Amino acid sequence: MSNATDQDHEFLTRVLALAQRSRDEGHHPFAAMVVAADGTVISEAMNASSSDRTAHAEMNALRQASQRHGPEQLATATLYANAEPCAMCAGGTYWSGVGRVVYAMSEASLLALTGSDPENPTLSLPCREVFARGQRPTEVIGPLREDEARQAHAGFWKK
Ligand SMILES: [Zn+2]
Repeated sequence: MSNATDQDHEFLTRVLALAQRSRDEGHHPFAAMVVAADGTVISEAMNASSSDRTAHAEMNALRQASQRHGPEQLATATLYANAEPCAMCAGGTYWSGVGRVVYAMSEASLLALTGSDPENPTLSLPCREVFARGQRPTEVIGPLREDEARQAHAGFWKK
């Protein structure tokens, strides 16, 4: 398994800040970015699940990316997320063709924070298990910098 690059850490820093901004703007503290291999930002998004329960940050970023580029172009792109993509978002990653995922906090760590909060009934399925069922590989790197990733969630969830 490969390791996170300097570029990965640069975009993780950006996506963690964007997750805090999502919270500051009244949304759940999640954010995602799709970035080309050369470092060009293709899309970035925050959570919008208050108006659409399927509007997770990753889905929002993936939809924008998918409207701009086909799966051939997205194969070498990376999805950055402050938390591990849920089963839906892992599916969205697969269908968009994005070939690589880098995330900060694991789904298991998120569950420890959200508990039984009805706002986030965690779908506890590691994204690697979803990708393993696909017909082409998706590289996954994470968890990374979990303590830092928890900060945007501190006191947010009603366990
Ligand atoms: Zn999701």
